[in-house]
Amino acid sequence: MNIVALPAFDDNYIWLLQHGGQTVCVDPGDAAPVRAYLAQHGLQLNAVWLTHHHGDHTGGVAELKQQFPDCTVYGHAGLDADIRVGEGSHWQWQGAEVTVWHVPGHTARHVVYILKQGQQTHVFCGDTLFSAGCGRVFDGTAADLYRSLMRLNTLPENTLFYPAHEYTASNLRFAQAVEPDNADVAAAVEAAAHTPTLPVTLAHERRINPFLRVHLPAVQAAARQQDAAAADGAAVFAALRQWKNIF
Ligand SMILES: [Zn+2]
Repeated sequence: MNIVALPAFDDNYIWLLQHGGQTVCVDPGDAAPVRAYLAQHGLQLNAVWLTHHHGDHTGGVAELKQQFPDCTVYGHAGLDADIRVGEGSHWQWQGAEVTVWHVPGHTARHVVYILKQGQQTHVFCGDTLFSAGCGRVFDGTAADLYRSLMRLNTLPENTLFYPAHEYTASNLRFAQAVEPDNADVAAAVEAAAHTPTLPVTLAHERRINPFLRVHLPAVQAAARQQDAAAADGAAVFAALRQWKNIF
């Protein structure tokens, strides 16, 4: 299986999966980079997987559908999709197993696509988990986003995450403000000079992502500088998310 990052706009990635003559792209906010890649490699587009309704994830769908009328668009309720997906949707793709989770928070209906091939799990996670960060809360809630990230954190530690944005360097500046003494964050800052920084493993994110580290005393102490009443994991998470909004 070949998985490539197609840069779009300023900092988006459109992930393109290619295996055994089948091609899928995730969140094509712009058709142009997808069309260019497909033309260059003589490929057809067979499917589009959408994580949520924001225009920088869906804006290229109509044009791709026009060029590839047989292409099947997967998306949650409320999206212009051929196949509606939601929590627990499940199918086979080229010998791999695809499962959909509903992970609200960034938006109320956000879904992720979990592709399991042998011992390797790949998660196309849209704007939920970013490297060293997480999505902003738009029409979901911080409590939803907290639960969603904790759920993603239950996957095997070698799971590869494919977020839709290259936000790593700026997220790491925030992670350093939260945990100035975290040597793994410092190492990641140096590594982030080279892009793409994605995909990332869950094991790596557990070491550097403050939003997955809300159970740790150092992270809780930093959050309480912002909100003295942040008592438990969910409140610490919400305080960090609020702090990051103005960071
Ligand atoms: Zn979004």
